[in-house]
Amino acid sequence: MLKRQGNLFVVSGPSGAGKGSIIKELIKQRRDIWVSVSATSRDPRDGEQEAISYFFKTKQEFRRLIDQQAFLEWAQVFRNYYGTLREPVLEALKKGVNVILEIDIQGALQIKEMYQEAIFVFILPPSLEELENRIIHRGSETPESLALRLKTALEEIAYIEKYDYFIINDDLADSTAKLDAIITAENAKVAQDVVALLEQADKGFMLG
Ligand code: 5GP
Repeated sequence: MLKRQGNLFVVSGPSGAGKGSIIKELIKQRRDIWVSVSATSRDPRDGEQEAISYFFKTKQEFRRLIDQQAFLEWAQVFRNYYGTLREPVLEALKKGVNVILEIDIQGALQIKEMYQEAIFVFILPPSLEELENRIIHRGSETPESLALRLKTALEEIAYIEKYDYFIINDDLADSTAKLDAIITAENAKVAQDVVALLEQADKGFMLG
């Protein structure tokens, strides 16, 4: 039987738009997706777990991983480093698993450069007021970092035109169903297999 490789889905959107909640809901429903666990230099929030929420690193450890070319993409977001580890993503795609990257726009643009076949989904909050409420509700931000997250949200929304799909997240079940439908439709598309291309492309990719 012809084994297709997995599709790579990049999910972005302002902090507080609800990307994480939608993805968490979807993995309860589908067995054919795997969500990449990023590395970050930011401190864990209450309830976050090593290797489940993130791989938590010091800035120094993170920079060492950059030097070792361990990342498919990485970026500085809100004064911390965030990055997608290369190997697990490539392995999962080869095995035919759909991979989800929940990453910011800088990272998404890097993936777009190296892997045009990736599918880009932008999650929007129902309104900016609602976005602010959600971030405040999370309780982990200082007034300064809240202001930075809101300013960044406005800047990020301008990049929506780079994305293939958008979901306005005003209802979790509805938004999850939309992401589910996007994945199902993309998996049914006639497309060329491209992991080999990705591996070639990333050899000369960025960091330089
Ligand atoms: P948070 O601190 O709220 O967990 O994440 C802050 C931002 O970093 C979010 O927009 C999130 O999507 C982004 N982010 C998380 N992991 C990665 C990653 O591996 N690479 C990039 N470029 N951004 C990431």
